[in-house]
Amino acid sequence: MASGGEQALVVLSGGQDSTTCLYWAVDRFGIDNVSTITFDYGQRHRIELDCAARVAEFAGVSNTCLPIDTFAALGGDALTDSQIEVESAVSPGSGLPNTFVPGRNLIFLTFAAAFALQRGIDNLVTGVAQTDYSGYPDCREETMNALQASLRLGMESRIEIHTPLMHLSKHETVKLAQEIGALPAMALTHTCYNGVQPPCGKCPACELRAKGFLEAGIEDPLLATR
Ligand SMILES: [Zn+2]
Repeated sequence: MASGGEQALVVLSGGQDSTTCLYWAVDRFGIDNVSTITFDYGQRHRIELDCAARVAEFAGVSNTCLPIDTFAALGGDALTDSQIEVESAVSPGSGLPNTFVPGRNLIFLTFAAAFALQRGIDNLVTGVAQTDYSGYPDCREETMNALQASLRLGMESRIEIHTPLMHLSKHETVKLAQEIGALPAMALTHTCYNGVQPPCGKCPACELRAKGFLEAGIEDPLLATR
């Protein structure tokens, strides 16, 4: 990474939102000051890791993949346990969808903050949004503010968590992607909960993505490459 200017680390999942965040960070901090981190948390769709690497390469920034194999051992969610079907409805017990991986964003950002601290990076960028989607409690602004305060205290750091998508609807996120030149990279991203390429078009993640592009009046580059 180049010296000079503030540096930023983007948590890159290989999906639409984190890819938009990567381009937002490049726009704001300059390409020489941006790097990305991806977590291999035992997700059932390994394709996500390939997409993240390809998006970072396409954007011209470095990507580090960190292994965290603990989530699969915790079990109980559909994104790490291939025995559990992805459901669109919330679970009766918790009121959360079964795609919710408890603690995921908290742990990702804590590891990202530690990685950043060791490299003199003061800015973290994440694609969480509370306008979202599935109502994940770890995507809320209040959660991010509390986590930032904890990280600053617990690591004696000046870390700032940037959440450029926090208050955007899905179609506003698509429009932002267009404005900052992130659309070409969308062809390399992955969204489908069923992990298939081309995307299934039927799962909650595919439906949400399609709705966003439709309402923005923009063709999804991922589907255009079919
Ligand atoms: Zn799908």
